[in-house]
Amino acid sequence: MLPKRLYIVGLGPGDVSLLSPRARSALEASDVIVGYHTYLSQIREVVGGKETAASGMQQEVARAKLAVELTRSGKTVAVVCGGDPGIYGMASLVFEVLREQGWARSAGDIEVEVVPGVPALSAAAALLGAPLSHDFAVISLSDLLTPWEAIALRLELAARADMAIVLYNPKSSRRREQLGIAQEIILRHRAPETPVGIVRNAHREGQNIVVTDLQHLGEHQVDMTTTIVVGNSATFSFEGLMVTPRGYSGKYDLGDGIRTEPRMDIDAH
Ligand code: SAH
Repeated sequence: MLPKRLYIVGLGPGDVSLLSPRARSALEASDVIVGYHTYLSQIREVVGGKETAASGMQQEVARAKLAVELTRSGKTVAVVCGGDPGIYGMASLVFEVLREQGWARSAGDIEVEVVPGVPALSAAAALLGAPLSHDFAVISLSDLLTPWEAIALRLELAARADMAIVLYNPKSSRRREQLGIAQEIILRHRAPETPVGIVRNAHREGQNIVVTDLQHLGEHQVDMTTTIVVGNSATFSFEGLMVTPRGYSGKYDLGDGIRTEPRMDIDAH
């Protein structure tokens, strides 16, 4: 008997041109596609008339369980997810469900393949220029599954260490306070003029790109379809773009005499 196959597929930020060929072939090989309806409509032209199992935003555990159940029933299943499935995505949930069920990798049980996708952080960075060319941290501001104290500590430490910071889940209709608090925390360690990029709906309808600075972050529209990139102390903006140099202190010579020094507050604490 053929092994039962479950694909966990990253669809990228939205536009089907950023769907990888491997993701496309996994979708084509599947009998059923399980996912949030926004993502299913994103890939309608690829999955055509295939059986789909849609569900709402908050039903991720149910979706993971359903995908596993459908695979056990003998179908080849793709559970789909925006961006990359391993970045705040469905992959870990599926593995948690499998572990709960005593799944074993080598015992002729379900075969699982995680198919990577272009994450929002890369899509946003590309639209902004090159803001993540040095060390960076990615922090979700959603405190639905994570205590706010942990989020605040991560913001504090990333800011102190002069890492560029990518903020996921910055704001929703019910969660409106976190972004302002995050801004305050980062401002304790970083200059108000630090470039900040705000990308809404990257590679989707309604795409909007703003390059501003840390002190003016609150003046722009931000929602659940937004990724924010805060630069480090060497990040500069020009021509509406945001660029973080590869190194500090003139380690490479572009002939412009510009030298940058890291601004770290490690000693201040
Ligand atoms: N797995 C996804 C992340 C899911 S968490 C990935 O790899 O990107 C959802 C958050 O991702 C959103 O709140 C937003 O911050 C970001 N996001 C997802 N798609 C986006 C897009 N097209 N444009 C901008 N931000 C996006």
